Amino acid sequence: MTRREWMQTGLGMAAGIMAASRVRGDEPGDDSDPAALIAKIGPMMEKIPVESAELGPGLHLIHGPGGNIAVLDGPDGLTVVDSGVPTRAKEVLETVKRVGGKPLVRLINTHWHFDHAGGNEVFAKAGATILATAATRSRLATEQYTEVFKMTTPASPAIALPTFTSDAFELHVGNEVVHLSAVPPAHTDGDLIVHFTSRDVIHTGDLFSNGIYPNIDASSLGWIGGMVAAADRILKLAGPRTRIIPGHGPMASREDLAAFRKMLATVHDRLNPLLDKGKTVSEAIVARPTSDLDSVWGKGFFTGGMFTRVAYDGLLQHRKTEK
Ligand SMILES: [Zn+2]
Repeated sequence: MTRREWMQTGLGMAAGIMAASRVRGDEPGDDSDPAALIAKIGPMMEKIPVESAELGPGLHLIHGPGGNIAVLDGPDGLTVVDSGVPTRAKEVLETVKRVGGKPLVRLINTHWHFDHAGGNEVFAKAGATILATAATRSRLATEQYTEVFKMTTPASPAIALPTFTSDAFELHVGNEVVHLSAVPPAHTDGDLIVHFTSRDVIHTGDLFSNGIYPNIDASSLGWIGGMVAAADRILKLAGPRTRIIPGHGPMASREDLAAFRKMLATVHDRLNPLLDKGKTVSEAIVARPTSDLDSVWGKGFFTGGMFTRVAYDGLLQHRKTEK
């Protein structure tokens, strides 16, 4: 899937609709409220087609509404990474079974967010055993309030919860060796990197959004310094030919991830002095620390103002918890 194809479909389409419907005023900061975004996402998710692409023998990508999904075909059935948004779960499951041609046996959650674990109940009822970090399980098991979106996510029913939790494990699926490793808090406090080592493909979950500003979930202890560290971790795993499935956006290379890491580190370095001076979130947004980066990175769900808000929120909270 090229960037152009991605922009024409799936989340690219969503991002385009977002950009077109966004309110842009003269006052800096008035495009910085992600809560307005969340009301639009639901109806938009209904319109985006579920699509698939082959990443090589026995490995498929499913993209469209929600985060990117990987499907690995193994001798015992299908192993799937992430389950998409709840409202499209049945359609996604049908697509998984169609491209994989086998029954579903296991589901890995990269983290708890509704656009990645929203299909858990439907997938579990179809026979999947769910694997995730303990932190992801505990967030799925309890009601979550996401401050920046002013959004409450109810606790998942028992069947939708991971039954196997660990921060590092290895799965042997046919000739594929899948390494799963958690990172310290970054996008959330339960992020998992999924590395298909034999095929040289990495699913990053939302530790990486290709070509666009990412969300950072401060309410789940995410913070930008952790995002930089996580990007470094993935860069170490990746070689020049590694193909990377980002949480959102088109398929990526190591260079795409390196560019994302550079953007994160740049913004981190600019926000730190604002924090040292005791600036509030609103003051940080008005300072427009991302103004020279927005034309490249601000074309997705998040404007520079929104990204500044989530990054600054996370940084503020991280400093508080450090003390
Ligand atoms: Zn996420």
